[in-house]
Amino acid sequence: MRKLSIGMRLTLWYLAIFALAQLVFGAGMWLVLRHHLYDLVDDNLEREVDDLNNLLHAQKTNKTLAGLRHELTEEYALEHSGDYLQVYLADGEMIYQSPFLQAYPLHRWKPGTVTPAVVKPGHRRRPSYEDLRLGGKPLRFATQDIDIEGTVYIVQTGLITHDVLKTLSRFRLYLLMFAPMLLLVAAGGGYWLSRRALSPVDALVRTARSITGTTLSSRLEKLNTGDELQRLSDTLNEMLDRIELAFRRVTQFTADASHELRTPISLVRTEAELALRRSRGESEYKEALQHILLEAERTTSLIEELLALARADAGRETLNLHPVDVREILREVVEGWRRVAKISNLQFSDSIEARESLVLADEAALRRAIDILLDNAFKYTPSPGTVHLSLEQQNDKVVITVRDTGVGIAAEEQGKVFERFYRVDKARSRDMGGAGLGLSIAQWIVQQHAGKIEVESSLSKGSIFRVELPLTTVALQNPLPA
Ligand code: ADP
Repeated sequence: MRKLSIGMRLTLWYLAIFALAQLVFGAGMWLVLRHHLYDLVDDNLEREVDDLNNLLHAQKTNKTLAGLRHELTEEYALEHSGDYLQVYLADGEMIYQSPFLQAYPLHRWKPGTVTPAVVKPGHRRRPSYEDLRLGGKPLRFATQDIDIEGTVYIVQTGLITHDVLKTLSRFRLYLLMFAPMLLLVAAGGGYWLSRRALSPVDALVRTARSITGTTLSSRLEKLNTGDELQRLSDTLNEMLDRIELAFRRVTQFTADASHELRTPISLVRTEAELALRRSRGESEYKEALQHILLEAERTTSLIEELLALARADAGRETLNLHPVDVREILREVVEGWRRVAKISNLQFSDSIEARESLVLADEAALRRAIDILLDNAFKYTPSPGTVHLSLEQQNDKVVITVRDTGVGIAAEEQGKVFERFYRVDKARSRDMGGAGLGLSIAQWIVQQHAGKIEVESSLSKGSIFRVELPLTTVALQNPLPA
């Protein structure tokens, strides 16, 4: 079953709570009103009983029953207060009974049937009350026994409670009439309030739905409500910023990679087409094939670099870090590059001086990063020039420096050389076999080692690439598990 919307649920809750509150309030008010109305009736009845009490007390005790009967008839026969009155003796003998009660007899009180209220000394006893319907009239009777020097008179007097019942039923009717109207207004108000409070959510949903890969730059409406919804939209917008950046990087990377791959492939194609245009001698074919081979080799290394970066982006290129002595790695690397220096007619020196040189590293990756720096130093240093590799310790880190006396990098370019596919001099760099990926790979490797890579350079004077790696205290004898 489809769940109700938040707005609908809030409205229903609001309605339920409001209805309950209304019920409790209505019932409470009705009870209070009823209590007060009956209190008024009881006060009147009590006054009548008091009057009778006074009247009976005022009679002489030796007065005959007939005399008393006459007295009461005189007093009450024409009075409204005597309409529903009867007075009799404890043994049941009637002294006075109003015509109405003669027509519709009221049950007699026998000692013990109506519990007279407990009286505190000094206090007057209150009568006991009961509601009856006689001759179709709603009546409330007060019953009290009055003891006058040993003779017990029982007084029962009543009042019509028609007005009380009418008032109560009117009140109930109004409650029942207005309650649904109030509920309707409350439901409408609740629904309107919840819609108003949640309307920004609808706007967010609408915008979010319209965002696709091509409209990633659109943002959700900026809310200024200062509440949870504003926090939600701000957070979603920040997330969109990150997604857009990542998306841009991926599309840029794909475009650059395709562009880089197109160049060697079209070179191979042109070379092959030219060679095949007419028949040639063996040496010409050989030369063409050598060009093709060179481009194929460049393409292979470019693809390898692209794959490394793609794997790194996808988080699949994980390095296997364990304690490694950087001195040893550098010494091995130096051996390899000595030969290159000789061929390219450059001076190559080193100073590997750190006392402590144990870092948590992936040997192959670290070697690759240093190779990239040395390769660049040799590529961008014309003969005669020098390349120097050094290792030194600085507090809790080691610093590897590759210094050359080459072409240098202009200050405004230095920040960009670590970007993918960035080359200061495109034609020159390509001739050297570079696609502008080496330094981004080196930077990624150094960052994976919790290190830092920086460049310092001045045009025509040379460049210094510094790599900082944190030292580890783990002993070499206990390499970390692979
Ligand atoms: P490439 O494969 O083109 O060398 P890199 O990412 O290694 O790509 O380097 C990016 C650019 O930085 C290079 O094209 C070059 O212009 C510049 N560069 C890198 N190292 C040096 C250096 N030692 N001396 C001068 N320029 C350098």
